[in-house]
Amino acid sequence: MSQLEIKDLTVEIDGKEILKGLSLNIDKNEIHALMGPNGNGKSTLLAAVMGNPKFTVTGGSITFEGQDVLSMSVDERSRAGLFLGMQYPQEVAGVTNSDFLRAAMNARREKPIPLFSFIREMEGTIKDLQMKPDLAHRFLNEGFSGGEKKRNEIVQMKMLKPSFAMLDEIDSGLDVDALKIVADAINDVRAESGMGMMVVSHYARFYNLLKPTHAHVLVDGRIVVSGGPELVEKIDTEGYDWIEKEYGVKV
Ligand code: ADP
Ligand code: MG
Ligand code: MG
Repeated sequence: MSQLEIKDLTVEIDGKEILKGLSLNIDKNEIHALMGPNGNGKSTLLAAVMGNPKFTVTGGSITFEGQDVLSMSVDERSRAGLFLGMQYPQEVAGVTNSDFLRAAMNARREKPIPLFSFIREMEGTIKDLQMKPDLAHRFLNEGFSGGEKKRNEIVQMKMLKPSFAMLDEIDSGLDVDALKIVADAINDVRAESGMGMMVVSHYARFYNLLKPTHAHVLVDGRIVVSGGPELVEKIDTEGYDWIEKEYGVKV
């Protein structure tokens, strides 16, 4: 049994079928690159695994560490160890970044984290991501630059220590230096925890830093090609046209 098992998943938004029978198994220590042209259901897949209520699962199953994910609330999924770093992190006025993080950490613990340990850890993590210290005390994502929002998702991941992480275009909006900082932080967490990962990005430059073990191309709500890291390179140099020819799907 793999850590995360997705079987024949179908998902709708507003009555429109987006995922059309998608199956994928991911184990601990594996990192799966998810590629494909825009609008084919990558974000939908991640959102459905995390339990975003906008997306209606109409069929199939998702099992995480033996548990039936589809019967769990978003909170339960998070407590079970699932994490989603979002493509468009929400701005939340009135809740500071540090209050949000502390609440999220405490929700997953028996006893609340002592305040000083929390502050020490948060300051250390913000420093690791080379972010400005005042970002801890500002409202969550409010007025953050695109790059700061993305780094902040990784701050959350580092502190929450999920056992499985999904990252949705976390590299978009990052300059070359920030890309390296973010990738280093992700690799640190992976090395420590052995978490499984599903990573959506359009760029080989990012994948080269993360070193995926598997790669998949999603077209029209289904995985049409799977392979190893060489698939990332092929798409980076040749694009998606060859998939249309070889697999007979409209890309
Ligand atoms: P990708 O991440 O591969 O670019 P998405 O999963 O975001 O693709 O989108 C897949 C399809 O679902 C697209 O046609 C998109 O327009 C549609 N879609 C995504 N989110 C919504 C939404 N909130 N309401 C309606 N349609 C949506
Ligand atoms: Mg996209
Ligand atoms: Mg997307």
